[in-house]
Amino acid sequence: MPKKTNAKDESVKVVVRCRPMEKKEIAGNYERIVEMDTKRGSITIKKPNAPEENKEFSYDAVYDWNSKQVDLYEETFRPLVESVLDGFNGTIFAYGQTGTGKTFTMEGVRSNKELRGVIPNSFDHIFAHISRSNDEQYLVRAQYLEIYQEEIRDLLSKDQSKRLELKESPDKGVYVKDLSAFITKNENEIEHVMNVGNQNRSVGATNMNEHSSRSHAIFIITIECSQIGADGDAHIRVGKLNLVDLAGSERQAKTGASGTRLKEATKINLSLSALGNVISALVDEKSTHIPYRDSKLTRLLQDSLGGNSKTVMVATIGPASYNYEETITTLRYANRAK
Ligand code: ADP
Ligand code: MG
Repeated sequence: MPKKTNAKDESVKVVVRCRPMEKKEIAGNYERIVEMDTKRGSITIKKPNAPEENKEFSYDAVYDWNSKQVDLYEETFRPLVESVLDGFNGTIFAYGQTGTGKTFTMEGVRSNKELRGVIPNSFDHIFAHISRSNDEQYLVRAQYLEIYQEEIRDLLSKDQSKRLELKESPDKGVYVKDLSAFITKNENEIEHVMNVGNQNRSVGATNMNEHSSRSHAIFIITIECSQIGADGDAHIRVGKLNLVDLAGSERQAKTGASGTRLKEATKINLSLSALGNVISALVDEKSTHIPYRDSKLTRLLQDSLGGNSKTVMVATIGPASYNYEETITTLRYANRAK
């Protein structure tokens, strides 16, 4: 049986991470407009050329440019993954403008142990936990999909031209029909699954950065654990971990988009705002209706947002002055989510 549930205000955490200045930002002498007080969990944004218009925001935690991947994992992600091992569902989102560190936070640089992001770190964590247990049997399944223009693609399927449908049934809830799942027995196997998905993701994308800025990638790990109880019966608990690298939050239309691009932009904005609405409804104790149905993303994650589930949203920002508008927009979104 799952352990006691968490209080409502505990179940959604919003943290902000600011990446370091890039070489070209340093070379270009851009002003850093972000100040972070990691002890208080607050951020001050200085408006360029208008120092009297500082804005302050606070979150469950903030991580500055000196923060290490391991800091985020130990403080923010590990408790969520731990609860998935206990049989709850959990979702980690990276939200923010393209180029601010969503993929760095989720995947990181996998060849360098210190730079590995939450996804490979969760692989380590999960399989280390499993290898320490002796009276429990575990089954770990991995799935990987992408939502692009409100269409779902199975990143692990041989046929990458297929589009999958969301279905709903009384016993399974909302699910993606025909989505492939791979049983993985160790870190190498699950890493391999991830690599295959990443390769498929870039196939057909002429510009990977552009593609990833317009699509949501969701890596799903389902952990089933069976244990023989005192009564001699097998007890099964299932937890699901959703690791979501969201589309870039930048307002796409301002680049003069039209036609397909504009339609695309509208859909991206739609699913990100639907997600914001769901999360703010979850944290608002007065709200009785959670608008899951407004986008594929929120419908798909319905069983992992709210209820007994844990959610962490990492909002990523850049430090430089020219990002002022997008940074403020991201911080407001993250603020509203809480
Ligand atoms: P996004 O996925 O949001 O578009 P990326 O994760 O690709 O952004 O990050 C853009 C660049 O900044 C990459 O070169 C990445 O390695 C670097 N970067 C992002 N966040 C950090 C960080 N916290 N520390 C060091 N480098 C970072
Ligand atoms: Mg990215």
